Amino acid sequence: MTDCIFCKIIAGEIPSKRVYEDDKIIVINDVAPAAPVHILIIPKEHTENILTAPSGLVLHVQEKLPEILSLAGVGPAGFRLVINTGDEGGQTVKHLHFHILAGKAMGWPPC
Ligand code: 5GP
Ligand code: ZN
Repeated sequence: MTDCIFCKIIAGEIPSKRVYEDDKIIVINDVAPAAPVHILIIPKEHTENILTAPSGLVLHVQEKLPEILSLAGVGPAGFRLVINTGDEGGQTVKHLHFHILAGKAMGWPPC
């Protein structure tokens, strides 16, 4: 998608340091971290949200999660996985992405 910031990052039009990459996803550090560790798992194929994602994508993310967490330095203390969806869900970039936040104790509810 031409005016999608994450598509531009995936295409290399906007430079980024990739924590992890394979044929289906990239993982980058969030530009405005909300925790000591704040990474974004982004599918390479543009899809707006979890409801439009191709089947198998979520399973792929789940299968790669241990390796991604290890590369990001997330330990056994835990982490938070967030998928903001739609305007009221707080989604500002309309290209599906999974936030991983870690490195501090987080409260609940988040808002
Ligand atoms: P959302 O609000 O859609 O759930 O999350 C979008 C996230 O993307 C935000 O946490 C924001 O800081 C991050 N973000 C927006 N633009 C960029 C960018 O150009 N590079 C990186 N690394 N993160 C970005
Ligand atoms: Zn996109």
